[in-house]
Amino acid sequence: MFILSSPSGAGKTTIARKLLAADDQLCLSVSATTRPMRDGEVEGKDYHFVPQPEFDRMVEEHEFLEWAHVFGHSYGTPKAHIWNGMKDGKDFLFDIDWQGTQQLNQRASEDVVPVFILPPSIDELRRRLIARGTDDAKVIDARMERARAEISHWSEYRYVVVNDDIDRCFAQVREILHAERMRRERQTGLVRFVRELMAGPPPGA
Ligand code: 5GP
Repeated sequence: MFILSSPSGAGKTTIARKLLAADDQLCLSVSATTRPMRDGEVEGKDYHFVPQPEFDRMVEEHEFLEWAHVFGHSYGTPKAHIWNGMKDGKDFLFDIDWQGTQQLNQRASEDVVPVFILPPSIDELRRRLIARGTDDAKVIDARMERARAEISHWSEYRYVVVNDDIDRCFAQVREILHAERMRRERQTGLVRFVRELMAGPPPGA
């Protein structure tokens, strides 16, 4: 479970898109949310957009791996898809906040790789949020407030990357993904491979 968290506007969505395009072993965890759909978003691709009663039912019936309130709306990761994919050896990319990261860490810390993306400065963060053009001034102020709160959780993450250049940031995040895949305990089939290696004929035989 490869988690990318950041305040909105730090470039997390761009990095996530680039990773998914570059790596066919990686699937996106599509969250459920009660927030309204933004222009250009697609149901089932960006989010599963659900009404609050449906979200509450999913919470009641333990259908979420984690869930949280963010900006006055509810967001959650549906379990079934993730567990099934992981059984098939797939890796999942999560675009979730610090609250969700804490919950996944508590449930399955061995399987979790938490990465935090920082903006190069607060001014740049505001500039990027305005340039995105999806939110009005009041929402941007709220997001800036929220950004400070999100950033305060940076030290709970195993990796922290500053996004002052999108290509460099992407390359660094990709290196993290590659290195984590090489960890001994994640390399399935290694025990058998080494056993066969050791059972081979001795030198000179
Ligand atoms: P947005 O509304 O801009 O798409 O997302 C707002 C925030 O909610 C982002 O920080 C995003 O990472 C977070 N988020 C999206 N989906 C989930 C989820 O399933 N669980 C949690 N905990 N946070 C989420």
